[in-house]
Amino acid sequence: MTLTEKLLARAAGKLKVEAGDNIWVKADVLMTHDVCGPGTIGVFKREFGKDAKVWDRRRVVIIPDHYIFTADSKSNRNVDILRDFAREQELPYFYDVIDDPSGHWVFDAGKGNLKRQYGANYAGVCHAALPAKGHTRPGEVLFGTDSHTCMAGAFNQFATGIGNTDAGFVMGTGRLLIKVPETMRFRLEGRLRPGVMAKDIILHIIGEIGFDGATYRAMQFEGSGIGTLSMDDRMTIANMAIEAGGKNGIFPFDARTAEYVESRTRLNGTHAAYEPVEPDSDQRFVYDTVVDLGALEPTVACHPDPGQRQKAKDLASVKLDRAYLGSCTGGKTSDFIEFARVLQGRRVSIDTFGVPATPDIVRDLQSTRWGAKTIWQILEDAGVRLTENAGCAACLGGPVDTFGRMNQAGMKCISATNRNFPGRMGHKESQVFLASPATVAASAIAGRIADPREYLPN
Ligand code: SF4
Repeated sequence: MTLTEKLLARAAGKLKVEAGDNIWVKADVLMTHDVCGPGTIGVFKREFGKDAKVWDRRRVVIIPDHYIFTADSKSNRNVDILRDFAREQELPYFYDVIDDPSGHWVFDAGKGNLKRQYGANYAGVCHAALPAKGHTRPGEVLFGTDSHTCMAGAFNQFATGIGNTDAGFVMGTGRLLIKVPETMRFRLEGRLRPGVMAKDIILHIIGEIGFDGATYRAMQFEGSGIGTLSMDDRMTIANMAIEAGGKNGIFPFDARTAEYVESRTRLNGTHAAYEPVEPDSDQRFVYDTVVDLGALEPTVACHPDPGQRQKAKDLASVKLDRAYLGSCTGGKTSDFIEFARVLQGRRVSIDTFGVPATPDIVRDLQSTRWGAKTIWQILEDAGVRLTENAGCAACLGGPVDTFGRMNQAGMKCISATNRNFPGRMGHKESQVFLASPATVAASAIAGRIADPREYLPN
């Protein structure tokens, strides 16, 4: 069996499953957020009764992160709905925006977008927060009401996005009917060259198979190159499995996975036991390919979908209005470090926005020094507009007052986010070009799409 088949067989209590089997699986964790949480809660109450209790209060994780730092009253109210539910159900893992468990969340637009407006428990973007807070464990099944839930496949778990109706059912029963997906294997061999990042790997792969090339399939990443990739790198790759239509992305377990998971579960006091799955010798794949990491170059997915692959060096004629670094895919500490490595000592020439994915990342950037300056200061000196209000921000547009949102027709933005269908970051006639943090930085300097190798320090 492939890694995904083994995980699903275990979750179904079966010795063996095959692609195409329909099986009931047990959920280890259900995650929801402010956009889909209220709908999921509505389905749960409608189907199980207004006094119903969730199947296991320690396995429901609620992380408001999407439409948070906006004066839109309906968005603010969604956070209050989550808080009321978490209090009613006595959920230990609700990462509230504010500290008062009986308060109301209101964003104060008068204070501006840049300075922190959240309390001590706020966790930021759900997919970055889940592992950081110790909720991702190898060998488990994670369902989330968000398509990029697949990011947790970096941790050797079956993680996939589900709709509100399914999530309401999982909330009540802890189970879900799943069709076992076929598996595609991508063997990553060799090592990335300077200026090339994990984002370039997944943009290359999606360009190869198309934005629907893995529809309802597992994307299994293997090969000697995996050992050269950090957990952040693996998260970037697994995150974008859905951009090829994938049901999930999955990585093997290794010492790096163990180190990350064990430190995070210990730090946060979450469930620490886990049992990874190892690849079998008789795995069957519907597609099997080798990706030579050493041959990859800085890559861009052009408007209007993540499969429009081009090399950054061939797009120098594309003039830009904006650059954006952020999201679960591209707003991690390591992303900001590579961004800063290119920008250090230089200035951006177009509007450039930086949105860390989590409050912990804000702290990392404000406390890590390169010489006399923090990374935060280096980026501000380069002209980047950085916000302490970690979250999804303009990754999916959001209300019109969202930080970094593309509000005008015709705007072109290079972005370290994961999705670029029309209207994704705001105006339906704007255009988004997906790239690595290094390519976003180089392009922010040049005001056009640029290859970061033009700017790398020796
Ligand atoms: S950062 Fe973007 S892709 Fe990630 S969860 Fe938020 S909206 Fe979705």
